[in-house]
Amino acid sequence: MGRILVVGAGLSGAVVARELAEAGFACLVIDERDHVAGNCHTSLDESTGIMVHRYGPHIFHTDNDAVWAFVGRFGEWVPYRHSVYSTVRGKVFSLPVNLLTINQFFGTAMTPAEARAFVAAQAEPIAVPANFREQGLSLVGEALYEAFFRHYTSKQWGTDDRNLPAAILRRLPLRFSYDINYFHHQRQAMPRDGYTALTQRMLEHPRIELRLGTAAEAVEERFDHTFYSGPLDRYFGYRLGRLGYRSLRFEELRLEGDALGCPVMNFPDPDVPWTRMTEHRHLSPWRKPLSDTSIVWREFSEATEPGKSPYYPLRLAGDERLLRDYVGLANAEHGITFLGRLGCYAYIDMDAAIGRALETARVAIAAFGAHAAPPAFVHDPLGKA
Ligand code: UDP
Repeated sequence: MGRILVVGAGLSGAVVARELAEAGFACLVIDERDHVAGNCHTSLDESTGIMVHRYGPHIFHTDNDAVWAFVGRFGEWVPYRHSVYSTVRGKVFSLPVNLLTINQFFGTAMTPAEARAFVAAQAEPIAVPANFREQGLSLVGEALYEAFFRHYTSKQWGTDDRNLPAAILRRLPLRFSYDINYFHHQRQAMPRDGYTALTQRMLEHPRIELRLGTAAEAVEERFDHTFYSGPLDRYFGYRLGRLGYRSLRFEELRLEGDALGCPVMNFPDPDVPWTRMTEHRHLSPWRKPLSDTSIVWREFSEATEPGKSPYYPLRLAGDERLLRDYVGLANAEHGITFLGRLGCYAYIDMDAAIGRALETARVAIAAFGAHAAPPAFVHDPLGKA
């Protein structure tokens, strides 16, 4: 096996390159951006010393021991508990919806058992929710759904909540306790020096060459195999059409003192144009700020047009059909494996991206060892693998 090309220096690309390099393969890793770490890129704001999450807040959380062990090799991790609040009609509530949210929202002092029975009585009896709205109504009922989910979701996804898959809401827990931890995973932490330093360390290996500012289309050398973590439709020159994504735009405010008092505040009201605000200093609470100035971002969700970064795969019905056709094209290719959020058109968290990349590398190394070609997908975007 000669040289391997890895397209994309985000987590997926960096993990696969690292694993292959350690197994003895020489890799060229390219990224068209001028930095590694993809959308979890972080960098220091010089004047304030605040670590800024340049593509929005990224919090690492996992129950996967192999993933946790892997990331631990590339830098120090600081335990971190994420908290998110939600401003609804001029009042602040804690998220995810928990006993405090329920009692504050309804002006009650219910016990866990009472709240469980109360919410169950509000919930609509939908046995198998077919979409996001049905999932929400069957989980929390009309009042909570309307306040916390319906409008946030239409702003975030730019479409009617009945067009969206129920799975999106399953990301969020509903708790009948005062536990306000946003995630339920055992391990939750932030890389002390940021995700970019972490990814850079993954890529520091004598068998890895990194070229930034380099698009896949501009590479003319020939490779024995390519691992492609760019957008699946882009690889094929969008010849069947474009897969739908949501993109984000951020508006920065520099405010004196603590502006939000928490890392993330959601704004689900329909008349507020942004979805959430992030106060970056609270994402790295262990860092000592250089000044009292705080960096706060308003986040706006937008359609992805050519030239804008894709963030969230939409996966509406039309996208699913198009995806099936692109997967067909991909399976007919030779010498290429697609991976990652963009390569598999999948809304996956960072730990899932790392776990999948580790598995992709394992399958590929075994295939190379048997003088066989790795498959186009180790994780089938159509959901069968
Ligand atoms: N969501 C919502 N209200 C909220 C927070 C989330 O309706 O206050 C819905 C929304 O559709 C969102 C999804 O739940 O896209 C997943 O939320 P999460 O916080 O996991 O989104 P991410 O941080 O990945 O953008």
